[in-house]
Amino acid sequence: MLEIKHTICPSCSVGCGLNIVSKDGAVVGTYPYKRHPINEGKNCSNGRGSILQFENKINAPSLVQNGELVESDADSIIAAIKKELDAIDASELAIICSDKNTNEEIDAIKKFAEDFGTDKIGFYGYNFPKFSGEIANYNDINNAKFILAIGDIYGENPLAARRIVLAKDKEAKFFNIDDVEKSITALNADEYIQFSDKATFADAIASVKGELNEEAVIVLNKIADAEDFKLVEDLASETGAKLLPILNGPNSKGAMDKIDPLTKDEIIDLIDGSKVLIVVNDNLLDYLSESDIKGKAFIANISNFEDEFTKFSNVVLPGKAWVEKEGTFTNAEGLTQSFAASADLGEGLSEIEIFEKLA
Ligand code: SF4
Repeated sequence: MLEIKHTICPSCSVGCGLNIVSKDGAVVGTYPYKRHPINEGKNCSNGRGSILQFENKINAPSLVQNGELVESDADSIIAAIKKELDAIDASELAIICSDKNTNEEIDAIKKFAEDFGTDKIGFYGYNFPKFSGEIANYNDINNAKFILAIGDIYGENPLAARRIVLAKDKEAKFFNIDDVEKSITALNADEYIQFSDKATFADAIASVKGELNEEAVIVLNKIADAEDFKLVEDLASETGAKLLPILNGPNSKGAMDKIDPLTKDEIIDLIDGSKVLIVVNDNLLDYLSESDIKGKAFIANISNFEDEFTKFSNVVLPGKAWVEKEGTFTNAEGLTQSFAASADLGEGLSEIEIFEKLA
C-alpha cells in the first residue's frame, strides 16, 4: 500500500516541506508538499535525492574492528561507552553534534553534557560564527529592490534562489560575489564579482556598498571565517540592508541558538583534548583529515549511515534516520517547524533514548 507522509527536507537550511512516499513500509520516493509556504509545491534535486542515502543505512549497533562493522546489540554498545566514560574525568569527554540534529535532540545531548560535567560540546558551523542579530525572511527577498548573494545560492539552495528570481521579475537588481570561476548564480546575476582571498573579498564587499540600502537583502551561504562574516554584518548594519545567512544543515540555526558552531581548528582542539569523543549524526571526514582523528580518542559514533568516518569509530549506534525522526528544525529565516516520523526503517533507539541510557 502506498503512503505519503509530510516532513521537512534534510538537505539544507531553507526548510522546504517534503513528502515521503512509502510502499509496504519501504521508502520509494519523494513528492513535493504542495501547500508548504516556503517551497509552494517544489523541491530541488538535492531535496528529492535525500532518500538515496538510505542505501548505506546502518541497521545494527556495532563494534568496529579493523575498519569493519561487527554487529552487536544496543545494550552491549551502551555498556562499552559507559565503561569508557567511567574511566575519564568530565573534561575529557567531547561531544560533536550536527546541524542535522533536531532541536529536541540537541536539548537532550546538551543536558547529558551538562550532567556529565563537560562543556566540550559543539557542531561544525562551516565557518559561520554564532550570530543572533535580526535576520531577513524569504518574503524580504521577494520584495527587495537589490539582492546581493554571496556564494552559489542557485546551485545549493534553489528554493531560496527562487525568491531571487521572483524579485528579478519585479526589476530587482542582483549581484553575486563568490570565489569560483562562474556558478549558476553568477550566470544569473546582473554583476558577478570574483574574489580570490581575504583582501579581494574585502574589496568586493566595499565595491557593492553604494548599491545597498534598507530595500536590499544580502543572502549568503558561504563565508571564510568570523572576520569575513563581520565584514558582511557591518555592511548590512551600515547600509540598512537585511541579512539572511543560509546555513548548511536543516537545523543549523536551531543548533546555533543552543550550542556553539565550531571551526575546523576548534574541533581539532576539542578532539586533541578528549579521551572519549561522541559524534552525533556527523561525518567528521567531510571537513577533517584522517590524521586529525585517527588514534586520538575512543570514538562513539551515533550514525545512521555507513561512510568513510565509520571505520575510524570504535563503536557505532545507528540512532534514527531523518525520515524516522520527529521533532523540530529551525530554518535559515528562524522559523521552527515541527514534523512527525514519516517512515519506519526498523527497530532501534532514537538519539534521545541513547543519551538517556548513557546518563
Ligand atoms: S532548497 Fe534546500 S530545503 Fe529546499 S528542497 Fe532544496 S535542499 Fe531541500
